[in-house]
Amino acid sequence: MPNFDYDLFVIGAGSGGVRASRIAAGLGANVAVAEERYFGGTCVNVGCVPKKLFSYAAHYRDDIIDSRGFGWDIPERSFNWGTLLANKNKEINRLNIIYKSILEDNGVAVFEAHAHIVNSHTVAVNGQLISAKYILIATGGWPWVPDYQGSEHVLTSNDVFHMETLPPRFLVVGGGYISVEFASIFTRLGSETTLSYRGDQLLRGFDGDIRQFITKQIGRDVNLRLETEIVKIAKNNNGLRVFFDSGSELEVDAVLSATGRTPLTAGLGLENVNVELSASGSVVVNNRFQTTEPSIFAVGDVIDRIALTPVALAEGQIVARALFSDSFDVMSYKCIPTAVFCHPNIATCGLTEEETLNQGIAVDVYTSTIKPLKNTLSGNEEMGMIKLLVEQSSDRVIGVHLVGPDAGELVQGLAVAMNAGATKQQFDATIGIHPTFAEEFVTMRAKRQNID
Ligand code: NDP
Repeated sequence: MPNFDYDLFVIGAGSGGVRASRIAAGLGANVAVAEERYFGGTCVNVGCVPKKLFSYAAHYRDDIIDSRGFGWDIPERSFNWGTLLANKNKEINRLNIIYKSILEDNGVAVFEAHAHIVNSHTVAVNGQLISAKYILIATGGWPWVPDYQGSEHVLTSNDVFHMETLPPRFLVVGGGYISVEFASIFTRLGSETTLSYRGDQLLRGFDGDIRQFITKQIGRDVNLRLETEIVKIAKNNNGLRVFFDSGSELEVDAVLSATGRTPLTAGLGLENVNVELSASGSVVVNNRFQTTEPSIFAVGDVIDRIALTPVALAEGQIVARALFSDSFDVMSYKCIPTAVFCHPNIATCGLTEEETLNQGIAVDVYTSTIKPLKNTLSGNEEMGMIKLLVEQSSDRVIGVHLVGPDAGELVQGLAVAMNAGATKQQFDATIGIHPTFAEEFVTMRAKRQNID
């Protein structure tokens, strides 16, 4: 056997890379990781964590308004973007340090530099050639912007976490996670916010009823321009003039393009090895996360399966255990819960009604539209919605969809029950916690059948 400098060389210290490095080192492997940008990756630096902090900031606006119906008289509302940004930066710096020390404390060698692959067992970093038995690509993804005249003026999700001021007029483009989350945030922090999307309902891929419901809810606070695309952006003395294919125009101070992300493989040296890429540019892997170059593995957003932090963590862990222990764990992509932190929040686990129809699964459908108790006194007209899909043949709950306060917190627990195979009868036999929004999950009786 040849001697290698390391057992495992990981490129990218984001969610998947850090988890794989830590687990591999804990199993006795000699591990190195290269990170050229920031420790913790997109999630910690320009994604989930700072976005959730911004979302909390946005919620205070609703809370202040809601509090009046409960007798509070809060006379003045002013929001200071600079304070939020400075406090967010402090917290993210703290997390960067923690992520780096997780690696160092576990004996992982850290290179704060760009690494590229030279051959199937060698990477070049800091002008040095380093050999490794295995290489793991965990470089994540990067925002993608469509090409049209003036597209260089748009911001991406990488930029909005570092804006010096909050633009008074904001256009958010796209109908996916990032777009609906930021539209909800900016409008509450004080920007006059417009969301433009090429589709007729937000959040393609989510359950149809939920899409319809949330499009209406978000339209209460955000100017929606649906079924339209940008053809040109021109900069002028007043800001940015946006031209749509419908012929309409809009003047704003900033445009956030949240039009998807692409796998980050540029500059990795993949031309030097036999790593196959898919048509969308993602690294092709088998169910052990092995690429078409047997010594090279890949996890996370760069493989373009499900671009969620907890998925990358699980994938990184599976690779490390497979390589350095006797584990034969296989990643299951079934019933992965997810939340969209728009206002109101959405959370979902399992199949959508459309997926059950496509897969020929006969289901009973339970839906309920709810006014949260808090909104009775606050006067807030925000509504919630719950939808359950129950497989007729087994009585198992195979789809849970929720729009409402803290939806992610509620659905995480339900995902455990669903993964354990909970039936509707077991949901019904569970005593509710009263008065809560969540008790609706165990009291849903009215069903409609979509397959006879
Ligand atoms: P999404 O894939 O969710 O949404 C991209 C949006 O851009 C879609 O609405 C899409 O339209 C639209 N779009 C794509 N191409 C074009 C085009 N050429 N012109 C106009 N519009 C276009 O991507 P995001 O960037 O919002 O987020 C990336 C991923 O990051 C998410 O899929 C998710 O996995 C992850 N994420 C998770 C979060 C969470 O867990 N809360 C938060 C943020 C991100 P169409 O629907 O018609 O294709």
